[in-house]
Amino acid sequence: MLKLYNTLTRTVEEFHPLNPPQVRMYVCGPTVYDFAHIGNFRTFLFSDLLRRYIKYSGYEIRHVMNITDVDDKIIQRSVEQGLSLRDFTDRYLEHFFKDFDDLGAERPEEVLRATDHIPEMVELIGRLAEKGHTYEANGSTYFRIATFPQYGRLSKVNLEGNVAGASERVDADEYTKEDARDFVLWKAAREGEPSWSTRLGDGRPGWHIECSAMSMKALGESFDLHLGGIDLVFPHHENEIAQSEGASGAPFVRYWVHAEFLMVNGEKMSKSKGNFYTYRDLIEKGYQPRAIRYLLLSAPHHKQLNFTLEGLQGAESTIARLNDFRRRLAELVPGAGGSSDEVTRLVKEAVGRFETAMDDDLNTAEALGAIHDFVRETNTLLAQGGMGEDDQQRLLHTVERFDQVFNIFGPVEQELLDSEIQTLIDERQEARKSRNFARSDEIRDLLAAKGIILEDTRDGVRWRRK
Ligand SMILES: [Zn+2]
Repeated sequence: MLKLYNTLTRTVEEFHPLNPPQVRMYVCGPTVYDFAHIGNFRTFLFSDLLRRYIKYSGYEIRHVMNITDVDDKIIQRSVEQGLSLRDFTDRYLEHFFKDFDDLGAERPEEVLRATDHIPEMVELIGRLAEKGHTYEANGSTYFRIATFPQYGRLSKVNLEGNVAGASERVDADEYTKEDARDFVLWKAAREGEPSWSTRLGDGRPGWHIECSAMSMKALGESFDLHLGGIDLVFPHHENEIAQSEGASGAPFVRYWVHAEFLMVNGEKMSKSKGNFYTYRDLIEKGYQPRAIRYLLLSAPHHKQLNFTLEGLQGAESTIARLNDFRRRLAELVPGAGGSSDEVTRLVKEAVGRFETAMDDDLNTAEALGAIHDFVRETNTLLAQGGMGEDDQQRLLHTVERFDQVFNIFGPVEQELLDSEIQTLIDERQEARKSRNFARSDEIRDLLAAKGIILEDTRDGVRWRRK
């Protein structure tokens, strides 16, 4: 039975979805104005881990993520670069998903862009207006917090004191509000900025309304899980609750789950502090995506994780060991032995420990410990020699099950080296010259099976990896 710490109740709770076997999960996605740093990816990899473990546990997942593709920083940078909002955000969205895929994360079932859902946001603001939760000032529309007494239930924020300026994303003085605690739903158009003509007037949506509108559109008014970084608890998620429940009158989300910060030298990794690494910085330094994934998943999401290059170096050797283990096990030529009690016990114990750890609010440190012990004990068995095919297959299947959740073992097949690819291409050219088409087709198919795409150009054959 999976248990998760729910920020809303401040307790670890058993996870019971509203409509099993379906689980509906919403994750606050990136604001696409720059390369995401690995602190951002900690949250997305945690979401990936939870989604995978939910599937492992026998549920069906419906995972939705938004893309914030309009906000002050995006507008400012797109203007600086002379690009339309769409062209500018398309570029960073593409970079984001390239990194996301490379880090071994599964794509959500739906990815929704804010600027594709302006009508839904306007409609939601209309419903809030009908229920008396909004007011207008200077062409902007605000949520009146005084009309929603439950405000503060998620964040337990002290409303009398520290709201204004508590987050960089509270619009403090830019707009005319009746009360500093109120937040903007619709921002009046300003000169030189992109805007939409709607029945609320010319303008653009506030940040918070996009998540309420898109999550309820995709998942319904009440759904199971809402995830994000811990810095989103206030005001973003608090405001989402006010907007969604204010409009629908129904409980918005059952389980709010938040990922802690990634730290560097005791400080939160952030763009504004300048103490961050992007995924690409680390790849340029020669680190592998799988090592970054391993490191970011190695501490449970509810604990802060201190990032160091030494730690990443350690993750590199760990994933190399795991990959080597999987390949040796797969390539083993089995002996004559049948299934042994030893392997039955080993698999049962390892899987049991793994599941107990993951059920315990995704205790990844413990789960990885179970995996490492399994690898060590299997190595001892392999060293004894004579393992039968049935044991080999059961052990390989256990690796696959762990990897369904963590995706850290890496492929069994070795990737071809660049030099090996070039040798094959040269051989294929020779075969074509001597009209040995059977051989040239064979090489083409072999390369295709390894994900190598060939392109005939005027300057000869060029290749790339898929
Ligand atoms: Zn959000």
